Amino acid sequence: MYKRSFLVLQLLFLLVVFVNSQNTQSLILTKEFKNAFAKQTRNISGKPGNNYWQNMASYNIVAELFPQSRTLIGKQSINYINNSPDSLDRLVFNLYQDIFKKGTARDWDIGSTDLHDGVLIWNLIIDGIPIDLNSGLVQRNASILMVNLMNKLAPNKSIKIEMEWKFQLPAKRTIRMGTYHDSNFMVAYWFPRVAVYDDIVGWNTTPYVGNCEFYNDFSDFEVRITLPSDYLVWSTAPLYNSKEIFQNYVLEKIDKASKNNEVVSIISQEDYAKELIFKTNEKREWIFKMKNVVDFAFAASSSYLWDATSIQSGKNRVLINAVYKSDSKDFKQVAEISRNTIDFFTNTTPKIPFPFPQITIFNGRGGMEYPGMVNDGDGENLNGTLYVTSHEIGHSYFPFNTGLNEQRYAWMDEGLITYFPRKFVDKYSLDSNYLPYADLIQTYNRLACSFAEIPLMLPSFYTGSTYRFQAYTKPAIALLELEKYIGVDTFNIALQEFTNRWAGKHPIPFDFFFTFNQVVAEDLSWFWKPWFFEMTYADLALKIETPQIVKIINKGGNPVAIYLEIIFEDDTKETRKIDASIWKNNKQDVVFQFYKPFKSLKLNTTETPDAFPEDNIWVK
Ligand SMILES: [Zn+2]
Repeated sequence: MYKRSFLVLQLLFLLVVFVNSQNTQSLILTKEFKNAFAKQTRNISGKPGNNYWQNMASYNIVAELFPQSRTLIGKQSINYINNSPDSLDRLVFNLYQDIFKKGTARDWDIGSTDLHDGVLIWNLIIDGIPIDLNSGLVQRNASILMVNLMNKLAPNKSIKIEMEWKFQLPAKRTIRMGTYHDSNFMVAYWFPRVAVYDDIVGWNTTPYVGNCEFYNDFSDFEVRITLPSDYLVWSTAPLYNSKEIFQNYVLEKIDKASKNNEVVSIISQEDYAKELIFKTNEKREWIFKMKNVVDFAFAASSSYLWDATSIQSGKNRVLINAVYKSDSKDFKQVAEISRNTIDFFTNTTPKIPFPFPQITIFNGRGGMEYPGMVNDGDGENLNGTLYVTSHEIGHSYFPFNTGLNEQRYAWMDEGLITYFPRKFVDKYSLDSNYLPYADLIQTYNRLACSFAEIPLMLPSFYTGSTYRFQAYTKPAIALLELEKYIGVDTFNIALQEFTNRWAGKHPIPFDFFFTFNQVVAEDLSWFWKPWFFEMTYADLALKIETPQIVKIINKGGNPVAIYLEIIFEDDTKETRKIDASIWKNNKQDVVFQFYKPFKSLKLNTTETPDAFPEDNIWVK
């Protein structure tokens, strides 16, 4: 295992030229990636290239949510800036709520209750000119809206888009958002937004059909949301007009929570009854503002309890809100678990300060992430709550702080966030037998070398029914094997470096691979290639050569650690552990010779992945 300090790291940058010369030769670069490196928007060091660019937008949204009808009506103005070197002849928008539109393509059946006519847009004005939505300029395909421009949008120019729209929030079939526990709402992927135009494919026009998540540009948001007088609102952005909304009784508690590690009950059941919350009894506007963030989501409830605490993370104090139904099984503990999570991520692994000023954990269903916000159901047990809370909070780092393309490379965030939060669960679990990666390895072993296992570099939207295995299980296993080789400290340094380089930008897998190569000061293609690009898998097997010699054969081709447990004829025991680097240079077998005869051998398959565990045991 290699443990390196930052000082050593700096010296090792001398080796960069050598490493770089190998990078692009050994990994398969498609034309899109080759072009990006040729145009220097990306660099083979793993840093953004000298010509890196990304487009951005400012959203000014005024919306009203009508809880009775679950209707959301909005009016928005977008200032979109073209920082690309290209003249854009069209604009592309994502209408994510069209996933509920009758007749649209979807990954799953969603029943009939929540089907509707999609996002209804009745006003679209581009640079002051009203656009006829039924004209030849406009096309709608699944969740994608394309508008051909009468005048191209030149490089370094901006365009103003005004829109009025509405849709109905789902009542039953929540997909990452919707209505929860009667009339509480998680509202996400809700407003029409400009799709990403990037240096890899230009406009990203893959529609949102279910499995795959999102890819959004960093944008500025000013959002005004109106709700009836009895509703509370929380969002991904800080509340701008809290003094106009809350009584001092609430403001003082928020202030206390934001300065202390202690968990404070901001709003209890009693506070609702005693009318201690709001200044006025009229419907009101909640104003939120945030700059340079990939999304804006909000939650609304007229009955949820609200706990808050805070913790120092790097230079900032992070405000943590847990908002939940009064009979939730586990949310009483969630503010504290969330605070411990941020403490762990800041100070233990990956040792990166939390990227947002606040996080709100909303008690909905399942587990879903937004930047500085989470939608989680009740956990089945403490381990479940620890995992779902830390996993979803971890997403604020990846994909949100580093603006990953989850639609195309879901493994970049789900793989990472399946891998490192398990270390947090391991620390806080009350189950002393908890093995953080055991269930993951078992899932891998079951599905490896089946139809489910296809190369990770295939776009996630092609993976269909194997999406979960591809996005979560396999990449987490690969990262774990890499960690066993480079050590957790170096792994953390690589993640820190990747974050420093790509926070607020859109990294692709090669930026990730090449950053790791540079930090480790080694071309890790021998590892990346089989694990991410090829139809290989993890599978070791035993071959007995003599009573004292055994050959370990790498049948699957993926580099994995060897955990060999030996019992000798004299009943003494030994374990040999060797990391995956033993398989460098296409090595296909390793020979172990012992000083005395063995009577049983076992390649451990609870700590090391293996598609065919049956050939891992030998008994005399
Ligand atoms: Zn996730």
